[in-house]
Amino acid sequence: MINNMKNLFKFLKKSISTKKENSFFKVETFQAFNFLSTMDLEQQIVANNISSVNGWCSVCNKMTAMIFSHSLHHAIKNGMFINWREDAICQECHFNARTRATVDLVDRLILTGIKSAYATEAVTPLYFALKEKIPALIGSEYLGEDKIGGHLYPYQEKRVSHEDITKLSFSDNSLGLILSFDVLEHVNDYKLALTEIYRTLKQGGHTLLSTPINPRLKSTVTRAYIDNTEGQVKHLLEPAYHHNFIGNEGILCFHDFGADLVDLLYAIGFSGVDIFIAQSATRHYYGDFIIFLYATK
Ligand SMILES: [Zn+2]
Repeated sequence: MINNMKNLFKFLKKSISTKKENSFFKVETFQAFNFLSTMDLEQQIVANNISSVNGWCSVCNKMTAMIFSHSLHHAIKNGMFINWREDAICQECHFNARTRATVDLVDRLILTGIKSAYATEAVTPLYFALKEKIPALIGSEYLGEDKIGGHLYPYQEKRVSHEDITKLSFSDNSLGLILSFDVLEHVNDYKLALTEIYRTLKQGGHTLLSTPINPRLKSTVTRAYIDNTEGQVKHLLEPAYHHNFIGNEGILCFHDFGADLVDLLYAIGFSGVDIFIAQSATRHYYGDFIIFLYATK
């Protein structure tokens, strides 16, 4: 098995120290970035029926076993879309590659000491992991159209704050940091959401965003929208649903984001947008889609 592992990652350079390894590439544009090929790795996973590997978990802060899911095996075997973002799940903390990379990047950007920080989630394991690192962090969930922003509502035996990202209850220039992970693709008017993030950030404040971005797609594709006259969802493409933490059903994906999301942030007024791409053999950040945008007001 150990020899197998050595072969498995031979094509990727392993760093000497897993703890200090820089597993993020900061790029100006997606076009300039050569994503590592995962084809050899995928073939070996299937050929050797590998269900888990050891890797460095940034949440557990140690080497742990990481599970390759049945759906990953299935996708490789059947030539389907291989979702590396949501796979390589740590057996101990159950964080996947994307959420492990999120915790990792928050550490690397040293966002921990910020005095006023808000996250667009409040009940997820990711929120609690981030709250440990950023004590000032407050979070909310979207609890329904009839709810009032900034008010607490009973939810999952807790009291949880409600916010609608397109009309945040925070004052202008009030927050030092806004974290939003895999929310934007589910928001009909994502431009308004980003405008709200900009409005509520202090001058010099930052937002760290993740959302599925296809770096090879020049322009964002809208899959569905809400018809304002009827208030109903209209589908332009076959409905795509993502799993979410809050409900039992999947949540509708309105947009497939392209590289133009970065241009939009500049158009809204952000003074700088850094693109971080997570790629690491020791942490199992693979594929082309573990991308973060770090924008400064
Ligand atoms: Zn872990």
